Amino acid sequence: MQIISPDKVIRGSNAWQRSLPEIVKITKSPLLLGRSLSTRPLRSLISKDLRELNLKVYNSELEFDCCEHDLTRIYNIAIEQKCDSIITAGGGKVLDAGKLLADYLSVPCITIPLSASTCAGWTALGNIYTTEGKFVRDIKLKSCPNILVCDHSFINSAPKKTLSSGIADSLAKWYESSITSSSNKDGIIQQAIQISRVLRDQLFIQGEDAYNNPSEDNLAWSNIVEANCLTAGLIGGIGGEKCRTAAAHAIHNAITQIYSNKRPLHGEIVGVGILIQLRLEESKNNNKLANQSINQLVKFMKNLNLPTTISQLGINVFENDNLQKIATFTCRKESEIHFLPFEFSKEDIVQVISKFESLKITI
Ligand SMILES: [Zn+2]
Repeated sequence: MQIISPDKVIRGSNAWQRSLPEIVKITKSPLLLGRSLSTRPLRSLISKDLRELNLKVYNSELEFDCCEHDLTRIYNIAIEQKCDSIITAGGGKVLDAGKLLADYLSVPCITIPLSASTCAGWTALGNIYTTEGKFVRDIKLKSCPNILVCDHSFINSAPKKTLSSGIADSLAKWYESSITSSSNKDGIIQQAIQISRVLRDQLFIQGEDAYNNPSEDNLAWSNIVEANCLTAGLIGGIGGEKCRTAAAHAIHNAITQIYSNKRPLHGEIVGVGILIQLRLEESKNNNKLANQSINQLVKFMKNLNLPTTISQLGINVFENDNLQKIATFTCRKESEIHFLPFEFSKEDIVQVISKFESLKITI
């Protein structure tokens, strides 16, 4: 069985208000999950609207990233409070935590992205991190969320860098799926890859306008928000496992193992991962177009103020054995990097990264 999409997707301006009649059909006592101080006013508004419809709302907040510690703590609260659904409102890690909790509790899940930073509001996947933010593993869920509320005014209040980070994460769909699955004969997978190409083109065409003019009245902004929150999730849904991740995300997972006081966002790290993946394709898979793709991407990413090197993520790979640590984690047995259809070694990853990083540092 393939898990493709949420049961209901409510999108656009006032999506939240329009979703209320659907939400009351599936829950009477939701646990409302969030995290950051900056989203608290929005979560209070969500809570107030639900209470006015006579729902018994229990508010809960993550202390850390989506980690076992928080999940266990909030799971117990949800049982104690007899919550019959999880409504999760925030960025990717909050959405992941809410989906995992709903999955463990076997109750409905409603996702409300409060930024356009990932497609986590859509997918049937959750990433677990440590309390320090190191990636541990991803978990496949029994289903996508029951309702996804993509409210443009909520998302519009998020910091600008969440949009650019989401753009980098969405771009990875094409660079990862086209290399891992282009020889796959399944028509649906082929179509999913083509959607990821159209998505990439739309990000290239409208991404800068969306980033520079983040207004609900700007069609480019609305298009990019939905590209990040919806289309990227749809590609994962119809393309399945192999259309999701490869080297860029494997490198992301490895980079999260190293502490950075810059606390870069998921997509910001994935963007750097795409560039490293392309360098690897160039050196080990004879990809003659890789350099052209890198130049195009670096120019685009710079215009969106996205980091393009690991040092810009706040990590010096030439210190503390960081380069070896990143290469070892990238190449561990269960890593998605092994979906790449060509041979490479850990040493190749070390070579590519050190060349890339030293090149940038000397410029
Ligand atoms: Zn991602």
